[in-house]
Amino acid sequence: MNETRCSRVESIDLSYEKHLIGEIWTTDEPYRNLEEFCDVIGARWAGSESERRGGEFLKAKLEQYGLQNVRLEPVPFGAWTRGHATLELTAPVAQSFSCIALPYSPPGDIEAELIDTGNGEADDFERLGEAVRGKVVIAAAETNPAGVRSKKLAHRTDKLRFAVDAGAAGMIFVNQNPGLLHITGGIGGPGGRPAAIIAVGTSWEHGQTILRLARRGGGSARVKISVGGSFSPDNTSFNVVGEIPGTRSADEIVLAGAHYDGHDISQAALDDGAGAMVALEAARVLAALPPEAIGRTIRFVLYCGEEVGLLGSWAHTADHEAENADIRFMLNLDGAGRGKGGTESLVISGRPELVPYFEGHSQRSHYRMKITDELNSHSDHFPYAIRGIPTATLSSPDDSATLVGRGWGHTEADTFDKATVRGLQMAAMATARLLLEVAADDVFPGVRMGREELQAQLTELELDIALKRSGRWDLVGGTA
Ligand SMILES: [Zn+2]
Repeated sequence: MNETRCSRVESIDLSYEKHLIGEIWTTDEPYRNLEEFCDVIGARWAGSESERRGGEFLKAKLEQYGLQNVRLEPVPFGAWTRGHATLELTAPVAQSFSCIALPYSPPGDIEAELIDTGNGEADDFERLGEAVRGKVVIAAAETNPAGVRSKKLAHRTDKLRFAVDAGAAGMIFVNQNPGLLHITGGIGGPGGRPAAIIAVGTSWEHGQTILRLARRGGGSARVKISVGGSFSPDNTSFNVVGEIPGTRSADEIVLAGAHYDGHDISQAALDDGAGAMVALEAARVLAALPPEAIGRTIRFVLYCGEEVGLLGSWAHTADHEAENADIRFMLNLDGAGRGKGGTESLVISGRPELVPYFEGHSQRSHYRMKITDELNSHSDHFPYAIRGIPTATLSSPDDSATLVGRGWGHTEADTFDKATVRGLQMAAMATARLLLEVAADDVFPGVRMGREELQAQLTELELDIALKRSGRWDLVGGTA
């Protein structure tokens, strides 16, 4: 047994954990909260009245649960509202297909030749080269297997960037899960700016039919796309913040966050209504512990506007730049609380030294979690990670459905009926115990990374490209 292990066991009073577990296990509070969030408040689309009501709901709950410094922090950005979208194959045969605009697609009408880019990965665009210019690209929306977000496989926004760089006129994303579900996903620029080209999402079935019909024409096919929608540049949404003060090192912060906004076409129950309710439940039980249980300040941030470009987390890190140096660890709960529970995994953001630490936590707490290390840029941990703050994402893949990628997420089927009491309880339990330990532990091994080291890491992973284009490269390493 090493020194780290001994000192950690001493720093945690098991009676606190028993209290947390008992509190969580004997109520369906997060499930009822999620039901109200989905059925009464709605989709919480960035910039909508529903999102504002979602924020008010969370603020009222944090106050009710006894958190301190509970507040709404304004986040200005450009909002987008959905309009019509149509998709027609005009040659070799004429046929219409249903589709939806991807959020922040510019409005307009195009007719052009169709080009199949398969998975739409970097290799596919490299292989096709100049053939893409002036055409409408059709590509798989998700290439990742269920629950996996691999750095080797491109995200929707990367695929769009490949298409724009190759001179494409428009883009069709095809859902990889059957069920006539249209796939969505934001494609806007920083702060909510329109995308460079028109893009729509369609179902697996429509996508496959389009591809088969196109092959009948010997690979030569044309499509016509029309997209509406409107932009309002001067919108304000709100991050919801609350704290449980630390009683030993109050200035040091352990931050837990989840986004509460969702996609407009669904109830956004699992992405990320569930994660927001897990955060809320962890806040409830931790705030009820005796003050001396909380070593360092635990701050909860429920982010607005994640689905349209991590707007809430970019804003929170920028507005609190001086405090970023005091953040010991950031835990992102995007994807927590889905499914039936017991599938919790922790993905650390490019900090291999934290893998054994969290494996130790998993063993000591007798709750098995898969711990891996892989930095990606596509959720609210990223603005913290580029500033050198150790971060990880706790998520609960839904293993009850054999779906690829985001599963029900980003489709009309992301609804409350997929959530379970047990799934929310188990993720909340894992989250609360982890936060309690990281806030209490005197030997946390995660130290802040320096600018040069971070820039090298981001460049190696090709995450530098989007940061440079959005003017955020100077934020790497933080300014504090
Ligand atoms: Zn999400």
